[in-house]
Amino acid sequence: MDFRIETVPPEQRRPKPTDESSLGFGKIYSDHMFTMRWTSNGGWDDPAVKPFANLELSPASLVLHYGQTIFEGLKAYRNRKGTVNLFRAADNAARFNRSAVRLDLPEVDPAIFTGAIEALLELDHEWIPRSHGTSLYVRPTMVATEPYIGLKSTHEALFFVITGPVGAYYPEGFNPVRITVSDRYSRAGPGGLGSAKTAANYAASLKAEKEALARGFTQVLWLDAAERRYVEEVGSMNILFKIAGTVVTPPVGETILAGITKDSVLKLLGQWDVPVEERPITIEEVLDAHADGSLEEVFGAGTAAVISPVGSLDYKGRTLHVANAGTGPFAERLFNELMGIQYGTRPDPFGWIHEVAPAGMGGASVSG
Ligand SMILES: *Cc1c(COP(=O)(O)O)cnc(C)c1O
Repeated sequence: MDFRIETVPPEQRRPKPTDESSLGFGKIYSDHMFTMRWTSNGGWDDPAVKPFANLELSPASLVLHYGQTIFEGLKAYRNRKGTVNLFRAADNAARFNRSAVRLDLPEVDPAIFTGAIEALLELDHEWIPRSHGTSLYVRPTMVATEPYIGLKSTHEALFFVITGPVGAYYPEGFNPVRITVSDRYSRAGPGGLGSAKTAANYAASLKAEKEALARGFTQVLWLDAAERRYVEEVGSMNILFKIAGTVVTPPVGETILAGITKDSVLKLLGQWDVPVEERPITIEEVLDAHADGSLEEVFGAGTAAVISPVGSLDYKGRTLHVANAGTGPFAERLFNELMGIQYGTRPDPFGWIHEVAPAGMGGASVSG
């Protein structure tokens, strides 16, 4: 992929974090970013890798008023060979374009989407942290940039990719989440934006999340907006229940984002011959399963945490403890298997890993 490249001179590169145990998530950015502009007349133009810097936007930009924006989130992992693993990046590119279509934004050629990430890894591979469980988070984004105060679809857009080192999600072992079921707010409705990774869905969730935190819960479990009965998602994770040996999870669709981690979990379960039911599940069914002792485990699946065990579940003031408020063996096995594939310590039977070998990183030269 041929991009215009403007590098940060070595003496101006920012110091890399030295303490990898305090990286956290989303606070530190690498030296370079990728940008590409679109107009409805000219299409995409001027793909470029350049120094990470503030954007210049008109205060009338459509995105700032009407929220026409989409994003993706994926991670790049150092493997033992001294190269970099990207996990299912082509699926992120495809989902980005599905989000683009829903938000009436232009699609990005998947080869440019992954090419942009590879070009950034080429320049910023030293930003990928080394300790186990850490990675370089990659955030592709698109915003509607046309200046216009009036509701319409944009004729101008900006696609950009930024990256930054992120810490291990569980530096001291699993930390099961405490979730509360929202019976007051909704995240997504039929025909709405729930299947797109777009800012509005998260803006809609913030108040509920703040109220949950104030009550001692870390995440909100969303029910369907129409009946407030069917379980949908947690924060930025899909949700799965292990009930009497079967994994039950609501099908992705108009109100539930098609998570790549959850899809990977389902493919692994198929390989392990674990029965899976992708079907609507009500909150009453979960409560009943807890009451009769068949609710074995509950866990979320998403890129940030990979697998997030749910230790307690609050609904209408009642708190259920799942897996003794700890981490079930099944969630742990899935976590270890997925992490192993991502870091290249376990076989990759599904061809999920795309290996990138930045020049000067010291690993073997790889293609494919
Ligand atoms: C990103 C996201 C997920 C998880 O998707 P992954 O591809 O597994 O990271 C689930 N739900 C929502 C609402 C999300 O934004």
